[in-house]
Amino acid sequence: MTDRLLSFVQHPWGRRVARALGLPQPVRLPRRQDAWSDKELAGRAVLAIAPGSAAPLPSLLAALVAQGAGASAGGPVQSLVVDATGCRDVAALRALFEQTQLSLSRLAVGGRVLVLSSSAAADATEAACLHAVQGFVRALAKEIGRRGATANALVLQEGAASPPALEAALRFFSTDRSAYVSGQVLAWRKEDGGAPAATTPPVAPRVALVTGAAGGIGAATARRLALDGLRVLCVDVPAARQPLEALTREIGGSLLTVDLAGAGAADELADALHRLGGVDVLVHNAGITRDRTLARMSAAEWDSVMAVNLSAILAVDARLDADGLLNAGAREICLSSISGIAGNAGQTNYSATKSALIGYVAARASSLAERGATINAIAPGFIETAMTRRMPLMVREAGRRLNALKQGGTPADVAEAIAFLAAPQSQPVTGQVLRVCGQSLLGA
Ligand code: NAD
Repeated sequence: MTDRLLSFVQHPWGRRVARALGLPQPVRLPRRQDAWSDKELAGRAVLAIAPGSAAPLPSLLAALVAQGAGASAGGPVQSLVVDATGCRDVAALRALFEQTQLSLSRLAVGGRVLVLSSSAAADATEAACLHAVQGFVRALAKEIGRRGATANALVLQEGAASPPALEAALRFFSTDRSAYVSGQVLAWRKEDGGAPAATTPPVAPRVALVTGAAGGIGAATARRLALDGLRVLCVDVPAARQPLEALTREIGGSLLTVDLAGAGAADELADALHRLGGVDVLVHNAGITRDRTLARMSAAEWDSVMAVNLSAILAVDARLDADGLLNAGAREICLSSISGIAGNAGQTNYSATKSALIGYVAARASSLAERGATINAIAPGFIETAMTRRMPLMVREAGRRLNALKQGGTPADVAEAIAFLAAPQSQPVTGQVLRVCGQSLLGA
């Protein structure tokens, strides 16, 4: 789907017209969507600062070097990494303000700011000041979004700052791979020893299963995971066989057509996974909308959304658990939505299911951790797919613009975030929600 305003304002005269009319002037976002490389930061101008501390964490510096980052001397900065783990009193917050302000003048269009904070506070004052960093990052993200730049934060749990773990965060949050992720705060946990920390480059898990893979976010995810060497089982309804066949031919994957809301769907998936030796990356992506206000919603509209978006996931997981089909170190990812966070008029059914998935991943994380596996939710905002193409024009236009980047995301943006969570090195993230929404104002 074409974003005409985005194309229009790429011309200098278009920008002038948009400015005169008071219209948004979104920047075309720099994106990177190929397979992970050994040194994701090679060739990028990276600057690391440590307000409140004598120097950045040694593990951060080691991770920067391991990802190929060279020092940035005086020129524009593409990736600013702020070690704010030392911001534990008001004076240190002042240093955060001063040093970030100074560096910001060098931040390139489409630049990335990643701020590290800590959950290890000695007292209430430290807790307050460490938490202040989160508000700082969210506000900063809103300011720099109009230049296509993003800011995100990681809250390091005590002992969580080992170099391989931070490398995984840097190669996503400090590069063009996270183009549509902004204003997010993720807890970065200590590796629990359930599965060995992988080295870079990632050791690709063998098998991925992506539901709803025939189009939109699902197809982009199947393509992206295949780039990392995964063998992808693509699942969709029988009516979507044609695009599913074309996709699996393209990526060398396999396919299964089944209505996930049907009675025997979990059995069919389990049979297919038995043949493939279990699953290493499970992406519950299939989802539907049947929008109507609650007062006018039919029971069928309620039931069909519940069946696809929630019951099918619960049934599939129960069957995979019973058969031991989630391999050790597996990565499970559920497609939630900002509608599940903010709620959306006309979507009580959809918002309920997407909110359910947020509760689900939080509750299921500890049982999966025993096997070194993780589970997280991705909450996309406005993504340019068939689903959003069906929206009324004005609602669609509002969805596109009501975010810090003033534009919609692409299916590949979501796929890139899924690839990040699906990587073996992303074990420190579990039970959480990562929004891919350009810092949408909805539910912010
Ligand atoms: P889409 O409509 O383009 O694709 C969904 C796919 O799921 C389709 O190929 C469809 O055939 C398949 N599917 C639907 N019902 C199925 C069933 N019963 N059995 C098997 N397959 C089934 O949607 P999308 O925009 O790519 O969204 C993918 C996921 O992301 C959904 O869960 C959606 O709720 C979520 N999401 C999308 C957006 C967005 O802006 N597009 C925003 C937030 C969340």
